[in-house]
Amino acid sequence: MTTKISTYLGVALLFFACSKKQIDVDILIKNGTVYNGADLKPNHQSIAIKNDKIIFIGDETTQSFNAKKTIDASGLIVAPGFIDPHTHADRDYKDPKLSHNLPFLMQGITTTVVGNDGDSFYPTETYKNLYTQQGIGTNVVQLIGHHEILKAVIGNSDVEPSAEDIVKMQELLQKEMDAGAFGMSTGLYYAPGSYTSTEEIIALAKIVAKNDGIYDTHLRDENAYNIGLIPAIEEAIEIGRQAKLPIHISHIKCLGVDVWHQSSDIIKIIENAQQEGIEVTANQYPYDASATSLNAAVSPRWAESGGKDSLLYRYEQVKFRSQILKETKTNIARRGGPDKLLIAKITDSIFLGKTLLEISNMLTITPEEAVYTLLNTGYVRIASFNMNMDDIHNFMKQPWVVTGSDGNTGHPRKYGSFPRKYHKYVQQEKIIDLATFINNSTYKTAEIFKIPNRGKLQENYYADVIIFNPNTFKDKADYNNAFQFSEGLEYSIINGKLSVVNGKFTNNLNGKVLTK
Ligand SMILES: [Zn+2]
Repeated sequence: MTTKISTYLGVALLFFACSKKQIDVDILIKNGTVYNGADLKPNHQSIAIKNDKIIFIGDETTQSFNAKKTIDASGLIVAPGFIDPHTHADRDYKDPKLSHNLPFLMQGITTTVVGNDGDSFYPTETYKNLYTQQGIGTNVVQLIGHHEILKAVIGNSDVEPSAEDIVKMQELLQKEMDAGAFGMSTGLYYAPGSYTSTEEIIALAKIVAKNDGIYDTHLRDENAYNIGLIPAIEEAIEIGRQAKLPIHISHIKCLGVDVWHQSSDIIKIIENAQQEGIEVTANQYPYDASATSLNAAVSPRWAESGGKDSLLYRYEQVKFRSQILKETKTNIARRGGPDKLLIAKITDSIFLGKTLLEISNMLTITPEEAVYTLLNTGYVRIASFNMNMDDIHNFMKQPWVVTGSDGNTGHPRKYGSFPRKYHKYVQQEKIIDLATFINNSTYKTAEIFKIPNRGKLQENYYADVIIFNPNTFKDKADYNNAFQFSEGLEYSIINGKLSVVNGKFTNNLNGKVLTK
């Protein structure tokens, strides 16, 4: 009797097993430690991908998959692809030789936001089409830069726009939002954005709000150059309050000794605004040196009206020269002195990798004079060592601060930000834990920018998935060699297609221009 029952049972089980429908999938990932981007605890579920979507997450043994490729992720971390909210990757996307976007891709980044700091490739539509036709290695979210709107209507100048000008700017902005921009970026520290009043920004931000977009800002001041860091934070909040839209502060930091240790006060101000109902978030790159152009860092803004050539022209005029030098000297001091400014990009290679102090000694002129000798050679980029570790840690621990790279040429952050945050701040210094790092590099960023169906490992979401080795994932780029790819990324899957396999780029351009 017992044998009979067990036989029946065996047959029944066999029948049940055979009746499990075979599901054809492209990729099956199993045995990994899975952080889904939203939950703060990992799981060990399997993930099945078909076409560009995740079609299954769960216990794989309950299903019968017929996978074209199976990835055994034993000992590895599986996560959503990182989303980088602040990059200058568009400079590479438009170049067919660089559109693979490898410096970002090899960090585990699968989506980049471009058009930050008030500068975007304009018009949005033209670049959307270019990227689509040419192919890009990672997904892209476009912002419309405030500077482009300004330049199109009043030029690169400090003239005050008329009421009609503002209407024209609003119309242009609407057109750009229609073309697919997720929001508007400003660079109020830089000319010509610096000439714009808060009211003018609010008038434009209202158009962005109507389109459910985001206001992304490089603050008017991160130091004590003009209004000061805290008033600049308050200005951003006021724009959010009056225009009724979410504001995102790019690369939050206390830049320069004058504003060190203000992070606690800033956090309080932002938390108060959040309690009032204003959506305020920020991104941060995990380095203590910032990077910008030499003129943006130390030249007086008033002297730049009309562009960099106008600055150099004014410098040659006796009536302006001593004032320009005086203010330049003050600005160098604000950044910690000429030994804290490292030349990261310049045409004339004898100056590359030297500090402004070294160059001024070499030329036997003052550091402020050396600035204009350097600017006369063309575009000059610097790394500026100006941050304090306490402030960096303080901001990093905030739940509303996400990972960003601000990746641009000449600073290691373009090649290393996300792995560096993992290796240095998660593993070595334990400032935040792994789940928080992943959450603040994926799902949270997708929520902030309202990027649909990405940033989380979930059924029916797009399959942007990375797999990295927790023991080897780290940055390699430093200030001496800023062009070294990060290590430890084993797989990257973008829109369901393999971009990285066993640590190697597959040469496939799987990115897409994203729309809302
Ligand atoms: Zn910026």
